Amino acid sequence: MPYRGRDPELCRRADRAGDRRRRRARQEAGLCTSCGRRRPADNRSVCEPCREARRVLDRRRYDARRAAGRCVRCTQPTVGGRSRCGRCLALEKARVCSEQKSAASKRRYNMRRAQGICVDCKAQTGGAARCERCAYRSNSRAPERHLAALWPPQITVIEVQTSRELGTFETEAEAAACLAFAKLRPDQVEFLSNVPLMALLPP
Ligand SMILES: [Zn+2]
Ligand SMILES: [Zn+2]
Ligand SMILES: [Zn+2]
Repeated sequence: MPYRGRDPELCRRADRAGDRRRRRARQEAGLCTSCGRRRPADNRSVCEPCREARRVLDRRRYDARRAAGRCVRCTQPTVGGRSRCGRCLALEKARVCSEQKSAASKRRYNMRRAQGICVDCKAQTGGAARCERCAYRSNSRAPERHLAALWPPQITVIEVQTSRELGTFETEAEAAACLAFAKLRPDQVEFLSNVPLMALLPP
């Protein structure tokens, strides 16, 4: 009779679900999600000794990967003594870039609001966020105005800088392919969609 073990994928999935449940239960009880014994300080989910243990492990893993000439994030081999592989470097750069960008645009927005000028075109508004023209454009771009209740799904991709419409697609995959083709990042475009977008929106 051949050996018939449990399906390993099912087991893993059950384990993960169990982990999640356990973590949630501990969190609700105000206990450390890692050890389930101590109470973490100031709204943290993990207690200080567990955090310290985690830090030591992370540090050890980092050093081991570094010493082996591997990416400290994904363990791919790296070149030129770098700590990260090309892909992880690029991902990190893109993330930092888009964070800086959104911080800058937030600053600009607040500054223009404080000066009483339109946040889009800098025209005087007398206190409103946008001048009449920009308000109209901004509203008519809102999904609920012009794409609501449409089926099949329609995702229109607009380049922010130029307001150029790059196309309208039925799936996120097609819209993503269009981005890749136009060599744009999700934060450089605006999506008008009559369906909630899952994959395309920048984190
Ligand atoms: Zn703990
Ligand atoms: Zn990597
Ligand atoms: Zn304006």
